[in-house]
Amino acid sequence: MFSKILIANRGEIACRIIKTAKRMGVKTVAVYSDADAKALHVKMADEAIHIGASPASQSYLKVDTIIAAAKQSGAQAIHPGYGFLSENPEFAEKIAAAGMVFIGPSADSIRKMGLKDEAKRLMEAANVPVVPGYHGAEQDVDFLASEAKKIGYPILIKARAGGGGKGIRLVEKSENFAEALGSAQSEGKASFGDSHVIIEKYILSPRHIEVQIFGDTHGNVVHLFERDCSMQRRHQKVIEEAPAPDMPENVRKAMTQAAVKAAKKINYHGAGTIEFIVDGAGKLRVDGFWFMEMNTRLQVEHPVTEAITGQDLVEWQLRVAYGEKLPLEQKEIKIEGHAFEARIYAEDPSEDFKPAPGKLVGLKFAGNARIDTGVESGDEISPYYDPMIAKITTHGATRENALNKMKENLDQTFCAGTSNNIGFLRRLANHKDFVRGKVDTGLIGRNIDCLGNFPAPTVCDFFTATIIGHAVDLKSPLLGWSLWQKPELKFELEYLTELIFINIEAMGEGVFNLIIGEEVATLSNIQIDGCILHATIKGETHSAHYLRDGRSIYVKSNADLYEFNIRDALDVSSNSANSSNQLIAPMTGTITKLNVRVGDKVSIDDPLLTLEAMKLENILKAPREGVIAEINCVQSDAVSEGAILITFEEIQQAPNKEES
Ligand code: ADP
Repeated sequence: MFSKILIANRGEIACRIIKTAKRMGVKTVAVYSDADAKALHVKMADEAIHIGASPASQSYLKVDTIIAAAKQSGAQAIHPGYGFLSENPEFAEKIAAAGMVFIGPSADSIRKMGLKDEAKRLMEAANVPVVPGYHGAEQDVDFLASEAKKIGYPILIKARAGGGGKGIRLVEKSENFAEALGSAQSEGKASFGDSHVIIEKYILSPRHIEVQIFGDTHGNVVHLFERDCSMQRRHQKVIEEAPAPDMPENVRKAMTQAAVKAAKKINYHGAGTIEFIVDGAGKLRVDGFWFMEMNTRLQVEHPVTEAITGQDLVEWQLRVAYGEKLPLEQKEIKIEGHAFEARIYAEDPSEDFKPAPGKLVGLKFAGNARIDTGVESGDEISPYYDPMIAKITTHGATRENALNKMKENLDQTFCAGTSNNIGFLRRLANHKDFVRGKVDTGLIGRNIDCLGNFPAPTVCDFFTATIIGHAVDLKSPLLGWSLWQKPELKFELEYLTELIFINIEAMGEGVFNLIIGEEVATLSNIQIDGCILHATIKGETHSAHYLRDGRSIYVKSNADLYEFNIRDALDVSSNSANSSNQLIAPMTGTITKLNVRVGDKVSIDDPLLTLEAMKLENILKAPREGVIAEINCVQSDAVSEGAILITFEEIQQAPNKEES
């Protein structure tokens, strides 16, 4: 086996490759850009080499720099991961010319499958069914329009060099053809430097089903069954599963055989995926699937295949690249159970999945799944690269079982700081058709209004944000017996663009009413356990996971995460304790200034002291008029959140002269 390999990639896939290499005793070399200097893949690798500035074109796409780094490190082979240089035949050739091994197929295989038109011609020649359409050389508008008409609308125009859903246009009627052609061509030109297009019949109710294949350099090719990747937004996969739901055994056999035939046609070695578009209108049929394209690399969604076959595909890649035979024969590869993968992205589902780079102030995964990630709490999702945060893979004996695990996991995953799609994925995992396995690539688009819709925070979310944001001590006498007023505290929270007024009323021992506008909810059995608040609301147990970061409080009680803000400590004191005889520290900090002494008369809003917390100065003001009865702190004291700093008593009325 190789003793050292370089990984020409970043993020979760680099980390994933490093894990397998470590297990196999292979040393790893990471490469990184400026933005990734402190990235997880850099920390995990045995060595790391800086290769350039943050934009991929100046680092992860620099063929010669990466090859020089590999040479310098003494690596014997380079793993390209996926994306970046993974399907670049010149990269594969130059690695070989430099005396190293490209962990992937031959440059010739990559070239053959690199363009959609050429690949389709090859597959036709190999008797693999291809989507009806035009994939010839002629590119004249009128000619292409007449081909589209022959094929019959609706049709898809695809940039032949396209990938990642780019350069694809759906055309429903001939009037729109010319305009759609122009825009597919210019996207193809801009993204891939190639404006050449192909035209395909648009398959109605399409399902995307792909077959994982593997070849070695001894002429063996096997398949590792199929994955269903029909859950797509903007032609990009978000939840994948293996095996495909409701796949009849005869169709599976036909598809996997076609895939193996396709791989053999090009003497393929390494990991590859044959993507089929499948007519999902009714039951799957042996004559209802067509070759779309081949990806000549490891696929993002390979963990679902690993889960159902019990194999490590990166290990297979290393073994095949080293010249070994495939670890298993076809008859030894079996499907066990069912697996799902959900891709967590920093993106905003309510804004057409717009990427949302930013800092992950909190990131915590749940335990019942495989997690592939390249980031940790505190890391940035960089605007330079794909905004994926993590992949969650669950495996169960049945589809239902694996899906339930996924739902549980999405509920428990805590990811705060930037927008993410966890709530969206959770709703998708609950969608009636998806739950039944009635999937097609249009499901998300048709249901985007409800899937992308962010429900309002729950009572539990508001309660948690209020007491964490305002450091309310639920055992404080403020919420029990009070000298002057009924035990009710008033708070303000900012949520989105709104200012929310919240009252908490103590109703008895450990029982509180949360009042927001007209709504009243009674909470009891409140317990704070680490960063989770538990409460009984209307007889049901609720839990909310929270994180405080400066003025922001992130709360998650379902799959969605809500960000609340407190205005500042000044408002905290004046609003939260205006009925009280005490000034409470709203957060842990240091007293940097004390303005009053025992016996001083104060009016409402007089500045009493300054509390410095999280590098911010908070002036705490008098919650009421009164006389300072007791001061429990001195300047420079470190005080804890919830500490009683000052107590007040009522101003004694001066004797009435007329009466005396
Ligand atoms: P890319 O290479 O950009 O990923 P693909 O050719 O793989 O493009 O197509 C992306 C997605 O578009 C597919 O997964 C499928 O959802 C949809 N699609 C592609 N071709 C067709 C077709 N002929 N009919 C219906 N949907 C299609």
